[in-house]
Amino acid sequence: MRPEILNPLFAPVSTLPGVGPRIAAAIEHCAGPLVVDLLWHLPSGLIDRRFSPTIADAPPGVIVTLKVRVESHHKPAVRRLPYKVRCSDESGELSLVFFHAHEKYLLQNLPIGEIRVVSGRTERYGDEIQLVHPDHIAREDEIENLLSVEPIYPLTAGLNLKPLSKVIQAALTRTPDLPEWCDPAYLARQQWPAWKTALLAAHQPQGEADLDSNTDMRERLAYDELLANQMALALLRASLQRAKGRETKGDGGLREIVGARLPFSLTAGQIVAIQEIEADLGQPHRMLRLLQGDVGSGKTVVALFAMLVAVEAGAQAALMAPTELLARQHFATLEKLLTESGVSVALLTGRAKKSEREAVLARLAAGEVDIAVGTHALFQSGVEFSDLAVAVVDEQHRFGVHQRMTLAAKGKGVDVLVMTATPIPRTLMLTAYGDLQSSRLLEKPAGRAAIETRVLPIERLEDVVAGIKRAVASGARVYWICPLVEESEAVDLAAVAVRHGQLRNIFGTRVGLVHGRLKSDEKDAAMSDFASGALDVLVATTVIEVGIDVPDATIMVIEHAERFGLAQLHQLRGRVGRSDKPGNCLLLYAPPLGETARARLEILRETDDGFRIAEEDLKLRGAGELLGTRQSGLPELRLADLARHGELLATARADARLIMERDPELKSERSQALRVLLYLFERDAAARYLRSA
Ligand code: ADP
Ligand code: MG
Repeated sequence: MRPEILNPLFAPVSTLPGVGPRIAAAIEHCAGPLVVDLLWHLPSGLIDRRFSPTIADAPPGVIVTLKVRVESHHKPAVRRLPYKVRCSDESGELSLVFFHAHEKYLLQNLPIGEIRVVSGRTERYGDEIQLVHPDHIAREDEIENLLSVEPIYPLTAGLNLKPLSKVIQAALTRTPDLPEWCDPAYLARQQWPAWKTALLAAHQPQGEADLDSNTDMRERLAYDELLANQMALALLRASLQRAKGRETKGDGGLREIVGARLPFSLTAGQIVAIQEIEADLGQPHRMLRLLQGDVGSGKTVVALFAMLVAVEAGAQAALMAPTELLARQHFATLEKLLTESGVSVALLTGRAKKSEREAVLARLAAGEVDIAVGTHALFQSGVEFSDLAVAVVDEQHRFGVHQRMTLAAKGKGVDVLVMTATPIPRTLMLTAYGDLQSSRLLEKPAGRAAIETRVLPIERLEDVVAGIKRAVASGARVYWICPLVEESEAVDLAAVAVRHGQLRNIFGTRVGLVHGRLKSDEKDAAMSDFASGALDVLVATTVIEVGIDVPDATIMVIEHAERFGLAQLHQLRGRVGRSDKPGNCLLLYAPPLGETARARLEILRETDDGFRIAEEDLKLRGAGELLGTRQSGLPELRLADLARHGELLATARADARLIMERDPELKSERSQALRVLLYLFERDAAARYLRSA
């Protein structure tokens, strides 16, 4: 149960004064649905209204707050001309300018002959100074309120600064003092203020320096978030350690048979990873291991060997993929490698017909299936294993922690191996998984040719097409990727369709199309035609990003490369260069390129090392964005910036460890405050582990 003290913060934003359904929807889009989300919505800028010169001394183009006497109103003869209000002080005169003005409103707020305080940005018009639509018009006695620094908040369409600021103020007013969860000695050393003081100060910057992520107040808030994160992971780990595991040991027989059938020999990295996993499986506690390996580094075989240990031990294994396409591909790969081994593999996806599905379910429950391959359909209720011992989750970025745990719950003490093709920087790794065990496949399988990457403006499209035409004529197969983002999905889809049409005009019918909106069988048909060579060119959105393996494809064209993240571009590029034929990657961008986008593309041109790319990505984009997407399955950090708060993370980690050592049940007074902290940062699931402890 969430501590009561937090209840005011966990109400919907619509419970704040002045928030109707329309504003509530805009705020939800911009910050989040709850009052607490507004607390984390920190200023990105400020407006300093403290400059209060006389009219004659007011330079153009700056924010001023002026005390003036209203002289006269001038209503325009035609409506498209502005309404002007002449004002003066002892030094001179200026006009307040309003377009589409409401005369009644202006007469009321700027009565002739009275003193008013106005604030806004000055503009020069001829040789006089104007304020066009002043931000504030107030009475003389309100001047002190106006002569201040106003925070600027990040906005979204349909939400203006004024109402958002008001709502955030209301949220802050509602914010209670919370008990101190930080270690007192550490707090004193850092000279950090209390949580609420820090929060209020962060929302009230007095100058540009206060917006920096390394001010005391922002560091304190970031630390709190990281501590909540590390505590949550420590609790999760403790509960996993308490949960009983099982010793899964095989005689190596199946691995020998399958190993002999492999058309290649394992790399040193694969051998080590397999040994590490084998050792974990043989331990009585549960395995939770991450297998990190760049695209094409050969993780699937490692997974297969892990699963074979379970089968040798007479138990079952499951391999979960994030998409239907990938599940099918894994299934096909495994079936091929397992023929004549006596191991039975079954496929279970959301699209299976009811009768098929039931047949598979029955065989799974009866233990007739040794290895189940599937999508999330694998962990839906109704799926029962006879004896699941090892679960492998591929490309875990698409799954949340919760889903992984659900699969693990399908058996007793299931050992879990999580595979990711997106190398994760160490800081991210720590916030996402804590001290998770990990194996890394650093080298690519032997015999892989290098990929040459070129960066070109879209104006060079004709040259690109001509080059591809030559390559296709000599047998090359080409991926042509177009971006697709949710916000502009309709426009993006149209662009993909247009490109597909154009390429068809040039290349004829051997050009396929794949995107998320197609029916699954249409997608599969295009994919398998491309894999078999019936298509030369596959125009696609990023549905092909994850794991698809067509070794004969050698050219990757990515349009609007500037719109993709670095890790994603690296993933996409990894779809080519998967055989002994050299790969080519063409990154097309629409100029002008921003500085970050340019740096990003430059890194890709320079290196093919996924781990280095991941670190650079973190530096360039900040973890906020790396972690940003909610479906990433990684925790979302809203206050901490991993690229800049790495040290705070290390401290938070050490702190969490110490707390768990000294007070594993969180019974002390400080621990009660930590419980509040966990709920404040919505680590409810972790807090629940606490209760069941
Ligand atoms: P990923 O790590 O991206 O999942 P895959 O497991 O799909 O990579 O492997 C990519 C390709 O490399 C596959 O075609 C696979 O058969 C091949 N492969 C895997 N291991 C080796 C190896 N040791 N030597 C040569 N080829 C390998
Ligand atoms: Mg893979």
